Amino acid sequence: MRTGYVYHEIFGWHDTGTFVGDMPSDPGAGLQPYMNYEHPESKKRIHELIVVSGLIDHLVRVPARKASETELETVHTKEHIDRIKKESATRLGGDGGDLTTPFARGGYEIAAMAAGGAIELFESVLSGEVNNGYALIRPPGHHAIRERGMGYCIFSNMAVAIGVAKKTHGENLRVVVVDWDVHHGNGTESIFLNDPNILTISLHQNRLYPHDTGDVDVVGVGTNINIPLPPGTGHGGYYYAFDEVVIPAIRKFKPDIICVASGFDSSVYDPLGRMLVTAEGYRVMTRKLMDVANEVCGGKLMMTHEGGYNATYAPFCGLFVLQELSGVTKLPDPFAHGNDYPGHELKSHEASSVDEAKKLVAKL
Ligand SMILES: [Zn+2]
Repeated sequence: MRTGYVYHEIFGWHDTGTFVGDMPSDPGAGLQPYMNYEHPESKKRIHELIVVSGLIDHLVRVPARKASETELETVHTKEHIDRIKKESATRLGGDGGDLTTPFARGGYEIAAMAAGGAIELFESVLSGEVNNGYALIRPPGHHAIRERGMGYCIFSNMAVAIGVAKKTHGENLRVVVVDWDVHHGNGTESIFLNDPNILTISLHQNRLYPHDTGDVDVVGVGTNINIPLPPGTGHGGYYYAFDEVVIPAIRKFKPDIICVASGFDSSVYDPLGRMLVTAEGYRVMTRKLMDVANEVCGGKLMMTHEGGYNATYAPFCGLFVLQELSGVTKLPDPFAHGNDYPGHELKSHEASSVDEAKKLVAKL
């Protein structure tokens, strides 16, 4: 198996400032300056575990490069790109567009590298140069809409990769995007909502972020499936959603490639999400996607990194996904006790949420 891997040290240099979680520091309100939730460590440590475990020797490095303005314009407005570029050139940097997406000077160049990394991996997988792959890029992308960034995302990395591929390979290129980040993939959804050749599927904690998107009744032209899950969903609920909705939808849609917006904030130890997925859970979901990819699109499966904010656990989630993709196992999960929590059983209110989304598969 040839598994592509994108990472560049510059992704760790994207500076999100001294926030207090997702709040700006404010002594009057008792908010002591600390770290932004979206800090470099949780991403850098995924890469370092991949190196230290030795898995890196079994991966094919796919170099990241800066996406051009023309490439970014395949899904973003020129005004958005120009504003980010302008603020990025100032001494103190700027914000993606919602005042919770800060970036320091040079942030434009790093965000363009992240989008370029996604473009390169997409093409490498689609062309068959590698069988599958993972782009460990930062800043993340799935919340960014055409006109602005939001939720730590500046450019919609996966959407840009798809937009560029559609220019190269034609509008009829069929793509499925599965988003397993704990937050709704609202940006990817909004960009492709009316595109019948792009099937977007988002599994997320119901109305965690954004607070007003991700409902099951948003279907666009019939190729958008939201699976809002109740807080506390574990492996039972996630596997049920995959077996009953995600996999049958992919089988029916018959894409040319399957993409994953991969956030490890659905993990049991994440500070932002309230779900129970473990490294083993991410491995199983990866396996399910690899199997259906083998069935429908020659195994073509690529992932771009999104969220995941526990710096001690996200590395093992990343390692387990890449071990499964490459077929090479280096290390077990030292935190595997999370697999034994009783919350992993499928509960009836989880099943009913999934069953609602299942009705959309019949209409595909
Ligand atoms: Zn997230």
